[in-house]
Amino acid sequence: MIDLHTHSTASDGTDAPEEVMAAAARAGLAVVGLTDHDTAAGWDEAARAAARHGVALVRGAEISTTSSGISCHLLAYLYDPATPELAAELELTRSSRLTRLARMADLIGQDYPITWQDVLDQTGDGATVGRPHIADALVAAGVVTTRDQAFATILQPGSKYYVPHHSPDTLWAVRAVRAAGGVPVFAHPGASQRGRVVGEERIEELAAAGLGGLEVDHRDHDDATRRRLRDLAGALGLFVTGSSDYHGTGKPNRLGEHTTAPDVLARIEDEGTLEVLRP
Ligand code: AMP
Ligand code: FE
Ligand code: FE
Ligand code: ZN
Repeated sequence: MIDLHTHSTASDGTDAPEEVMAAAARAGLAVVGLTDHDTAAGWDEAARAAARHGVALVRGAEISTTSSGISCHLLAYLYDPATPELAAELELTRSSRLTRLARMADLIGQDYPITWQDVLDQTGDGATVGRPHIADALVAAGVVTTRDQAFATILQPGSKYYVPHHSPDTLWAVRAVRAAGGVPVFAHPGASQRGRVVGEERIEELAAAGLGGLEVDHRDHDDATRRRLRDLAGALGLFVTGSSDYHGTGKPNRLGEHTTAPDVLARIEDEGTLEVLRP
């Protein structure tokens, strides 16, 4: 089983990178991708743990991007994290996420019993912060009982507490990931219940710019969406992946609930500049 999309405490997952690798081994995964939001900070710990637990590690990230005002998550696999242009842009996104989250925490703190420090207490050292960390502070304060409940109310994009953060243009990011030797894959491109999604013309443009694949098998896609995306991928010469988008206890997603075919992983490894780390 190959699951190419998971999160650790390096971003908004609840398991440390080491724990994600241990959980992957327990779930029977042969290969796991660690794809924290806008960071490679979890790679080294994950690499050591993957070797110990006997799972192969695909080093990746999930880059927050925007296309004409629409949020698009771009998975980047096996790229060189030292590439200056991409590294600088991810650093900008991470620091903007921090400012933005502090502002949201202050706004929410006017109406609910949480402070920015309470939110910081929920984040890992140097982690990419996001709304899930405010959700955790709201849960700790007893305002809501789950992350999901916080997202359905206080944290939703239409809420008066919502503040956006910087993110690069999706087309730029596709090119930047390729320039860094990585393989870009559009994460959950049809997850329409989370917000607006881009149309097929935009995906066609991204494909022309170097997009490698579409993450089709994902719990946020219904059957009709998966069929439509699979057909589109076929027409555009893109490969198709499936993955869990595991966030530990932060989401119900289970490791290995969706998987990627071995020949697709072979193509990603072939096109990527880094190796898959095998035990
Ligand atoms: P942000 O990065 O601040 O825009 O927050 C978006 C992140 O929150 C996504 O990466 C998801 O992992 C997470 N998220 C979105 N909706 C939910 C939900 N209903 N329950 C738990 N986590 C969520
Ligand atoms: Fe997330
Ligand atoms: Fe995502
Ligand atoms: Zn994700």
